[in-house]
Amino acid sequence: MESKKRSAIDSLNQHWAFLCALSDKLWTCPEVGFQEHYATQEFCSALEQFGFQVKKNLAGIPTAFSGSYGNGGPVIGFLGEFDALPGLSQQENALTKCPIQEGAPGHGCGHNLLGVGSLAAAIAVKQYLQDNHLPGTVVFFGCPAEEGGSGKGFMAREGVFQEPDLAFSWHPGEVNSVSTEGTMSNYQICYHFYGVSSHAAMSPEKGRSALDALELMNTGIQYLREHVPTTTRIHYAITNTGGSAPGTVQPYAEVVYLLRAIHPEDLIDLYERVNQVAKGAAMMTGTTVEIEFIKACSNVLINSELNQVMQRNLEEISPPTFDEADLEYARSYQETFERGYSYYDMLVDEITDPQLKEELHAKANEPIHTSVMPLAQERQGFVSSDVGDVSWNCPVAQINCATMPAGISMHSWQMVAVGTSNIAKKGMLYAAQVMAGSAIDAIENPAIVQRAQNELLSRTGGTPYRSPIPSDVNPKLPT
Ligand SMILES: [Zn+2]
Ligand SMILES: [Zn+2]
Repeated sequence: MESKKRSAIDSLNQHWAFLCALSDKLWTCPEVGFQEHYATQEFCSALEQFGFQVKKNLAGIPTAFSGSYGNGGPVIGFLGEFDALPGLSQQENALTKCPIQEGAPGHGCGHNLLGVGSLAAAIAVKQYLQDNHLPGTVVFFGCPAEEGGSGKGFMAREGVFQEPDLAFSWHPGEVNSVSTEGTMSNYQICYHFYGVSSHAAMSPEKGRSALDALELMNTGIQYLREHVPTTTRIHYAITNTGGSAPGTVQPYAEVVYLLRAIHPEDLIDLYERVNQVAKGAAMMTGTTVEIEFIKACSNVLINSELNQVMQRNLEEISPPTFDEADLEYARSYQETFERGYSYYDMLVDEITDPQLKEELHAKANEPIHTSVMPLAQERQGFVSSDVGDVSWNCPVAQINCATMPAGISMHSWQMVAVGTSNIAKKGMLYAAQVMAGSAIDAIENPAIVQRAQNELLSRTGGTPYRSPIPSDVNPKLPT
């Protein structure tokens, strides 16, 4: 590796204790989407301390912010998340499910690591620009509410991601790989039904049941499923049944729908049809329905140019090594769950080189996956991510880095428990180094930026980004 790049990446070592402590602080004080006030304060003060210019209240969201350093182009963005998941409170390093506080949030998606890893990458790139007196700008974007809130979607609606020329991110996980999976666009809507309460036996004729309306809506949707594109998905959760007394006609009920589509334009029609079903259900029951649009996100556009840059850096920068204590720790967690078909297994199954496939297959049961996976074929996934709205505005690439014992599920108590471990920290450092290395390559080689932008243009066909979130919708999590 070129020595200037090496020295910028190595400069992280001197800040590493501080950055690990920051990640631990976020783990200890988990906050759910749009309520990440402690995390915002900690990140903003760290950014100021490292000489970044901080902008708070981005897009009018109190927990969205950025820190930038440098002048001129290219402008490289790093995306940081830091929200926790409700109900996943868990003691650190415990081998059984035991909440610190029942019902409280916990870092079940590793976003304490995600945010700090991206911040670390920004610090290393700043060091590089500074040491080498180069033009260029590095921006850390503090992005709230990835889990269910589409924080980046709201930021994108206000134009925040028009600033960077390209952006990098990562996600904690069980493998070291470049993400080559496209995601689905989605809309999340809450249907509130209002009826009339009454004694169900004495004066049933006076009652109008909101719960009946909700059930009829759901029945209508089950019939609708047969007549929608196969590239769409319809999910729902009943979030309020109107009460637990069968002797009372329920005056209120609500259901949250999550609609997904590979092609964003399919959602416009699907949303209208679901609304019609809801209105029909209200009409049948003499109730009324209020349709509350909660949030939406766009599909992720893969950028193969940037993916190749990240793959080269994953291979060039050595993945962490784990000592016997790390391996023992990992094995102890693997005894707490049944090993099923994992993300690692899926990536190995897709490898076309028989020798490499065999070699990686033989490592399927290792306690921590230490290999760098080969760059996989682009594929269409069925989940959604608010990185999609960034990817329509500037080229984006993401990696996964192994931060946990192999086989642990995302959003599980085990994932929370290992979030401050040595394994987690080593994976976070590797992610920061690879992201910083990729950014430095793009700064050194303007052709990378140009090719990545040309690719984005060809993938959108020149269609400008249009936010899927209506202008009058304010950020919130569904309750
Ligand atoms: Zn998650
Ligand atoms: Zn996540």
